[in-house]
Amino acid sequence: MKTIQSLRGMNDTLHNVADKFEYIINTATEIAKNYGYTQIETPLLEETALFKRSVGESSDIVGKEMYQFLDKGGNDVCLRPEGTAGVVRSFIQNKFDKRGGNEKFFYHGAMFRYERPQKGRLRLFHQFGCESFGENSVFEDVSVILLIRDIFDALEIGYKLKINSLGCSECMPTYRENLVSYLEEKREELCEDCHRRIETNPIRTLDCKNEKCQTELSDSPKIVQNLCESCDSDFEILKRVLKESGMDFEVDTNLVRGLDYYNKTAFEFVSDEIGSQSAIAGGGRYDKLVEFLGGKDTPAVGFALGIERILDLVKVPEAENSGYYFGTLDSEYLQKLYLLGTQKRGKERVHIELKKRSLNKHLQNADKMGYRFCAILGSDEVANSTIWIKDLKLSSEDTISQDAF
Ligand SMILES: [Zn+2]
Ligand SMILES: [Zn+2]
Repeated sequence: MKTIQSLRGMNDTLHNVADKFEYIINTATEIAKNYGYTQIETPLLEETALFKRSVGESSDIVGKEMYQFLDKGGNDVCLRPEGTAGVVRSFIQNKFDKRGGNEKFFYHGAMFRYERPQKGRLRLFHQFGCESFGENSVFEDVSVILLIRDIFDALEIGYKLKINSLGCSECMPTYRENLVSYLEEKREELCEDCHRRIETNPIRTLDCKNEKCQTELSDSPKIVQNLCESCDSDFEILKRVLKESGMDFEVDTNLVRGLDYYNKTAFEFVSDEIGSQSAIAGGGRYDKLVEFLGGKDTPAVGFALGIERILDLVKVPEAENSGYYFGTLDSEYLQKLYLLGTQKRGKERVHIELKKRSLNKHLQNADKMGYRFCAILGSDEVANSTIWIKDLKLSSEDTISQDAF
């Protein structure tokens, strides 16, 4: 019979990959908690309208990549392609926006995008993210960036930080008009996608992946040179405080997010270790999204980091051997061994080997499986109600009474 395989772009997580996942999540969780974040878990499945409204209909994610279907009740639903929308929906649904709005959430979990699978890009992937609500000070943007720095430093991952400012509802519209007239002049030289973007989302032409577009647009008007006073002053503070905090960065004027509720700070952490300048984390300020989704006007800033993107860069520190391995030389003594082993369970790591083995084989197994103590029951031990224990770390051995054990 033909066996069933997992879907394309969807992998199982096991063995050392599972260890890495756990290590990354635990490290990021501890740091997020130190920054005052608490955990939130939102459903994997949401109304499609949530993502159409928040991620934007003109984006590739909503336009081409969503796992969207009608459920048995005829509801238009979708597996989440990203994490922010659900957190913002929950923030509004729980009326946090009406109660001061100061909330800091971290989340992690599976996201789904129907993309062409390639290295570092899967259809089922995982993100760790943080969303901070209710703080409009640019110092909060710095905190979010330093939080990511702390995570990558703890994981010993190299990175480069790129930052940009996307302006606000005061300075962005004028800039956008200037950009559109510039783009209209260049229209003939630009790619199909950019033609569409001029109408739907002109800012997105700036990060078009087409090389010809990049060359053509190199002398386009830059947002950071067209900021209003408040945006300009915030961007200056951002750069100054990052510098004073010892955080290197580069201003990338093509770093855009391109939806109306994204404003001011935008940033990306990139790594050269997994291919040229691949993004390993990204985020920024989205002061209008809560209002856009029907909540009370609440400023917010956040980020997400891609776990699969950094998997190959992470080394899990080796754990010290610990716990007890129980083995017997004769199946006859298995029940006695089993009951002794069970008493230790729940308090520490315990493995009870149910197959009889030679002493040497047991010792090898215990070491391979990472146990510190190897406890053996043979005929002498059973006759004397004792158990033989070898400490694999100190290479010492001892025979003690089962009662004392
Ligand atoms: Zn502005
Ligand atoms: Zn283009």
